[in-house]
Amino acid sequence: MPKPPQAAPLTRVAPHDEAMVEAVIDWFVAEARDLPWRRADCTPWGVLVSEIMLQQTPVARVEPVWREWMLRWPTPAALAESTQADAVRAWGRLGYPRRAQRLWECARVIVERHGGDVPGADPDLGEAELLALPGIGDYTAAAVRAFAFGERAVVLDTNIRRVIGRAWHGQALPAAHLTKRERDFAAALVPEVATEAVAWSAGSMELGALVCTARVARCEECPLATECVWLAAGKPGLEEAPKRTQAWHGSDRQVRGRVLAVLREASAPVNVTGLAVLEDVEPGQLDRCIGSLVDDRLIALVDEQKGAYALG
Ligand code: SF4
Repeated sequence: MPKPPQAAPLTRVAPHDEAMVEAVIDWFVAEARDLPWRRADCTPWGVLVSEIMLQQTPVARVEPVWREWMLRWPTPAALAESTQADAVRAWGRLGYPRRAQRLWECARVIVERHGGDVPGADPDLGEAELLALPGIGDYTAAAVRAFAFGERAVVLDTNIRRVIGRAWHGQALPAAHLTKRERDFAAALVPEVATEAVAWSAGSMELGALVCTARVARCEECPLATECVWLAAGKPGLEEAPKRTQAWHGSDRQVRGRVLAVLREASAPVNVTGLAVLEDVEPGQLDRCIGSLVDDRLIALVDEQKGAYALG
């Protein structure tokens, strides 16, 4: 297999690159899905909640849960007044329930430090204020700055990285870790005008989610098809790419989810080790998963004598 070209740092965006960026923006204007967190009346809190939910969970599963959350907890203050167990229960089956816990902690800190308003609007301090919140990393901070406040930010999720990697550098899939070189290149592509920068971020993300997906590239529908380096090279390397998806069935993650589902539905504390619905799980694995859920403070042993747990 020919070695894909390395991403060279871009110090200045060439007209050719600008045209590619504009093509993605035009495509996005025509093809963007109408999602509630993209509407003009969505609050910064709504955007923040959507960004946390969308990490590792597809839009179709997120949307109904997001709507329920926004009805129940339309502001950080509303969520902060509920319990962490309420947040984990309402997380439903979105997966990775520590996100519910972090979101709840985040709401409390927003109330304590920022009077209940999501920070991020300040051009100088916004990024640092967001990064100081629990559970907010580089990606989420940039996404909130761009999509909630309309600021120019370098938003880099796996979809955007894949589109840039394929179209500009001929790489089937991005590397496991973002390098400074890759980030610098992506940053140079972001238009100077904030509204265009936001549209490029949202558009390249949407392109990666709908057209240039990890498994299938529908190049015939892509606005970058005439310029795409990977397509011109015959789309090499996808078969050899390491599979990053872990087997789900029987994994600790699945068992943790099943334990949480039992406790979410229960009206009283439950001794999960004796339950028929979990009898196919090896006792050692069940103990390990219960222990890790306790360590993560997602559940708690509330009746030691009965060995009964409840959401934390
Ligand atoms: S032309 Fe194909 S491979 Fe290239 S960016 Fe578009 S969908 Fe992806």
